[in-house]
Amino acid sequence: METLILIIVLAVVFVAVVVEVGWLTLVRPRRRRRGEPIEVVTPPEAPGQDELRTPGGEADAAVVAPPAPARVPAQPAAPEIEKPPPSAGRLVRLRDRLSRSQSSMGSVLLGLLSRDRLDDDTWDEIEEVLITADVGVAPARQIVDELRTKVKVLGVRDVDQVRDLLRTELINQIGPDLDRTLNEEKHSGAPAVMMMVGVNGTGKTTTAGKLARVLVGDGKTVLLGAADTFRAAAADQLQTWGGRVGAQTVRADKEGADPAAVAFDAVAKGTELKVDVVLVDTAGRLHTKTGLMDELGKVKRVIEKRTPVDEVLLVLDATTGQNGLRQARVFAEVVDITGIVLTKLDGTAKGGIVIAVQRELGVPVKLVGLGEGPDDLAPFDPATFVDAILAN
Ligand code: GDP
Repeated sequence: METLILIIVLAVVFVAVVVEVGWLTLVRPRRRRRGEPIEVVTPPEAPGQDELRTPGGEADAAVVAPPAPARVPAQPAAPEIEKPPPSAGRLVRLRDRLSRSQSSMGSVLLGLLSRDRLDDDTWDEIEEVLITADVGVAPARQIVDELRTKVKVLGVRDVDQVRDLLRTELINQIGPDLDRTLNEEKHSGAPAVMMMVGVNGTGKTTTAGKLARVLVGDGKTVLLGAADTFRAAAADQLQTWGGRVGAQTVRADKEGADPAAVAFDAVAKGTELKVDVVLVDTAGRLHTKTGLMDELGKVKRVIEKRTPVDEVLLVLDATTGQNGLRQARVFAEVVDITGIVLTKLDGTAKGGIVIAVQRELGVPVKLVGLGEGPDDLAPFDPATFVDAILAN
């Protein structure tokens, strides 16, 4: 019996020990093994500044914050209408852009002409420099022949005299007497209309925007017509330019709309608003596609049902050389070009293109682009241009 009692006591003690040890094992936190990721528990967010509490500060006594005074969303400030500078004197102001890009031609020519002996080889070199500057083969020959005769007849050797002769000859080739004024006078009851034509990338839309600034700077009112309906970006760009100087833009409501219809609407709107000038930007896709070029002719004819087109300005990139001249030829076949805008003259040493393109088309360069700034478009003037070339 005693043995039985002893066994029961031992069994009870044994069970108690097992239960105790097992429980401890269960509740003791398991040690993190090396390399196991740490679980990062984000603390609940702190109450916000606007969660007002009673003076007692008990959480459950929070009251609803009184409605914050209604905040009027900041209105976008009306864009300030800019007042661009007038066009007069712009080329003089921008002449350092020209002299920087063109002066190498001028200084090489002057260097050659100032040599002690002007032999056949030197005259050939002079001709080559002119051709390299895109003057064109025939005009280069003419310039050299004229200079050669004058130097011989007058016996000129002095560098200043040589410079004067060269200056006169270059100005003569560019055409000091060509009428370069823009036809911007409105008709009775209708605005003057100018069309911008040219291949994409030449700077056509930018030039339309800059020209709007030139005209506004000269005191005119302008409306823009975005008849390049194939590129919504072109219409956006034009609208931005116009907005800066307070000029409205008429544009299509969908891409690919009829450009002639947009041009017609622009002229109608310009007439209604009694603006002085309507500037129509056109599509400049590949000039080799006959249908697209015909479309340009159509735009012009449709405008002319309402009012004459006073200017068709061909925008040419001065850096494209012979390719630019080919473009000019094709455009001239479709529309009567009245003036040339040579862009990017700030980025090329080949200013001779002024002479070549005028010869090619028989129409004057009226404006030149000399940079990407909004007021970097200037009326062209041969004497200022040549003086910039010969500056050193
Ligand atoms: P579009 O396709 O003919 O309408 O050409 P854009 O007007 O879009 O112009 C093409 C690029 O030429 C743009 O980056 C213009 O800023 C740039 N551009 C236009 N005119 C001039 C200029 O006279 N000088 C320079 N350096 N860049 C110009």
